[in-house]
Amino acid sequence: MPTIRQLPIGLVNKIAAGEVIERPASVVKEMLENSIDAGATHVELVVEGGGIELIRISDNGCGIPADQLDLAVAPHATSKLQSSDDLFDVKTLGFRGEALASIAEISHLMLRSRTADSDSGYELQVKGGEKEPIRPCSASVGTTLEIRHLFFNTPVRRKFMKTSQTEMGHVTEAFTRIALAYPHVHMVLSNNDRVIHDLLPTERWSERIRAFFGDEVADSLIAIDQRDETVGIHGYVTDPSVSRSNNRMQYLFLNGRTIRDRSLQHALGEAYRGLLMVGRMPVCFLHVRVDPKTVDVNVHPTKVEVRFEDSGAIYTRLLHSLRHKFLNSDLVAKVRAATAAPNSMMPTFADASMPVTTTHHVSSEDSGNGLLNWAKSNATGGVPDFRPYQGFGSQSLTSSLAQASRASARADDPFYSPASVPAQHSAGQSWEPSSAVALADHETDELEIANRHVRVESASNSDGSGEVVTDRAIDGSHKQLGFQIHNRYLVTQDASGMVLIDQHALHERILYEQVKKKVMSKSLECQRLLVPESVTLNANEAAAAIENRETLAVIGIDVEPFGGDTILVTSYPAMLAKMHPAEILRQVLEPLMSGGKKPDARDLLDELMNMIACKAAVKAGDRLSPDEITALLEQRHCYQDTHHCPHGRPTALFFSREQLDKMFKRI
Ligand code: ADP
Ligand code: MG
Repeated sequence: MPTIRQLPIGLVNKIAAGEVIERPASVVKEMLENSIDAGATHVELVVEGGGIELIRISDNGCGIPADQLDLAVAPHATSKLQSSDDLFDVKTLGFRGEALASIAEISHLMLRSRTADSDSGYELQVKGGEKEPIRPCSASVGTTLEIRHLFFNTPVRRKFMKTSQTEMGHVTEAFTRIALAYPHVHMVLSNNDRVIHDLLPTERWSERIRAFFGDEVADSLIAIDQRDETVGIHGYVTDPSVSRSNNRMQYLFLNGRTIRDRSLQHALGEAYRGLLMVGRMPVCFLHVRVDPKTVDVNVHPTKVEVRFEDSGAIYTRLLHSLRHKFLNSDLVAKVRAATAAPNSMMPTFADASMPVTTTHHVSSEDSGNGLLNWAKSNATGGVPDFRPYQGFGSQSLTSSLAQASRASARADDPFYSPASVPAQHSAGQSWEPSSAVALADHETDELEIANRHVRVESASNSDGSGEVVTDRAIDGSHKQLGFQIHNRYLVTQDASGMVLIDQHALHERILYEQVKKKVMSKSLECQRLLVPESVTLNANEAAAAIENRETLAVIGIDVEPFGGDTILVTSYPAMLAKMHPAEILRQVLEPLMSGGKKPDARDLLDELMNMIACKAAVKAGDRLSPDEITALLEQRHCYQDTHHCPHGRPTALFFSREQLDKMFKRI
C-alpha cells in the first residue's frame, strides 16, 4: 500500500521551477516582470554565457523591505494579491508568488534590495534553496538580483540547455517583449560585457520598435487605434511589404502582458488574407486592453496564455479594425532609390510610409462608354448582369480584352497602327494623356523614341519641369493616363508619381472582389449540366469533395457521390466554362490536400474564388485596347485591396516623383 506524504518544501519548489523556469530566458522574463511591477523606470540586465553562468537584473523600483526578503523567496508568497477576489482582477504581471522561490531552489541567488525609507540595503543569498543570514550592505533604492549556476542541482534540465548563443537568443526575445510593452522604461541589455541594447525611455512606441527592428519595419508601421467600452486595440501592424515566414514577430500584449493567442493570431492572418503570399505571416505590435475582470490570466504557469470571457468579440474587433484601416490605407508597393549604394541606380522596395493617404481617383465624368459604365456600376455595389464567361458580350471587360488580343493586328484602329503613335508625336504635339495606348513589343522602341521626343518638348514647354503631362492628367479634365508595355504591364500616374501595374494581377484582384460579392449575395452564375459529368479522383480527393459539398455549392459547384472514388458534377461556375470539371476539382483540392490536412471551408472557398479570378483574368501577353486599359485602371480604385492580387503579390509599383527625381539625380 503506497503511503501518501506531504512533499518537502524544496521538492515543491523544484516541481514549480520545472513549470515556470524552462531556461535562462524564463528567469529573465520573471525578473523583468517583477521590476515592472515594482514601478521601476530604469532596468539593467547583464547576462553571461547566455544566462547559464550569470543573470543580473538591477532596477530602481520600490525595493523590498529587509523584513520581507525571506518571504520574497518563499513559495506562494506575493505582495500582489490581497484576497481571492484579486485573482479575478489581476492588474500586475506577477501574482503567483512562485518565481523567486523556484529560482532560488535551482541556482545560486543573491537578492539585494533597498526601499526609499531605509538608510541601508539588505542582502540575502540562497544556494539551492539554502538561505544564508540576511546582512546589510550598501545599495541604492531598488532591487538587484544575481542568478548564477542555473540548474546546478537539476542535471536533466541543465543537459537540455542549448549553446549559449541559442540561450542568449531566447533571453533577448524575453527582454524585447518586456521592453516593447514598456517604452517609458529605460532598459539596458548587456551580454558578456557588451551593451546590446540601451533603450532610452520614449513616449513614442514606434521609436522603440525602430530600436529593435530597424527602419524597414519602423517605416512600414500602420497605426491602429480602436476603442469601445469593452475592448481597446492600439499599436501597429505593418505594410504587407514587410512580412515574416513565422509568427514570431507578432507582438501581442494584453493589459501590458505579452501573450500568445491563437485566436488573435488567426484574426491577424484573416485581416491580411490576400495581401500576403502563402506562407508569409503578418508582423504586429498590438496592445489589447480589456477589463481585467473579463480575462482569466491564471490558466498557464508562465501566464503567456489567457482565457477571454468573450474571445469572439475581441477576434471580431481586431479583424474589423485592421480591415477598416487597410481599406483606408494606400498599400501600393513603393519603390525607392537604394540609399546604401549611392552609385546604384537599382530601385529597391520600400515600405509605404505612414501616416497613410488614400489615392482614390475615380473619374466623375460620364464618358458614355458602356464598358466604363459597367465598370462603375460594379463598383457602386450594384450586382451587374454576370453572364457566363464566354458570353459576357459587350458588357464584359474580360471578353473585350480577349477580343482585343485576338484583334491585336487590327490595322484599321489608329491606336494599333505601329506608325500612329510616333506619328502623333513627331507631328509636334505633346503627348495626350487622354489616349490610353497599347503597343506590341516591336512598337515599344518607337514609343520610346517618340516619348523621348515628347519629354524633350515638354521640358522646353515648361521650364524643364515636365509638368505639362502631369497637370493635364490629374486635373480631372482628361481620362486617366495609361498605356501598355510588353503586353503585360500598364503604366499610369497619380498626383505624386508613376505607377506600374501588372495587368493580370490587377484584373485578377478585381474579378476576385466581384466574385466574392456575388458569392456573398448568392448571385454567382453557374452552369447546370444537362448530363452530369462523372469525375474520378483519388480516394482522399473524392472524400474531401463530398465532405465539402456545401462549400463547393456556394461557389456553384454541385457534386454528388457516384460510388467508389467517382463523383458526379452537376453544375459549375459559368466563369469557368472553359475548364473541364475534373480539372477544376483537382486544381482546387490538390493544394488544399497537401500535407494530409483537411481543407478548411474558408480556405477552400478562397481557393475557388482565386481560381475563378485567375482563370478569367486577362493574361500577361494579352494586348489591351485603350478603352480596356482605361477601364481596368479606373476599376483599380473601385474595389478593395487592388494593390495586391488575391495571392498576395503586389499589383502595382509606385515610383514617387521625388524618388524619380532622385534616381535621375535631379535632386
Ligand atoms: P510574484 O511576482 O508572483 O508576486 P515572485 O516570486 O516573482 O512572485 O516575487 C515575490 C515577491 O517579491 C513579489 O510579490 C514582490 O513583492 C517581491 N519582488 C520580487 N522582485 C521584486 C523587485 N524587483 N522589486 C520589488 N519587489 C520585488
Ligand atoms: Mg514575479
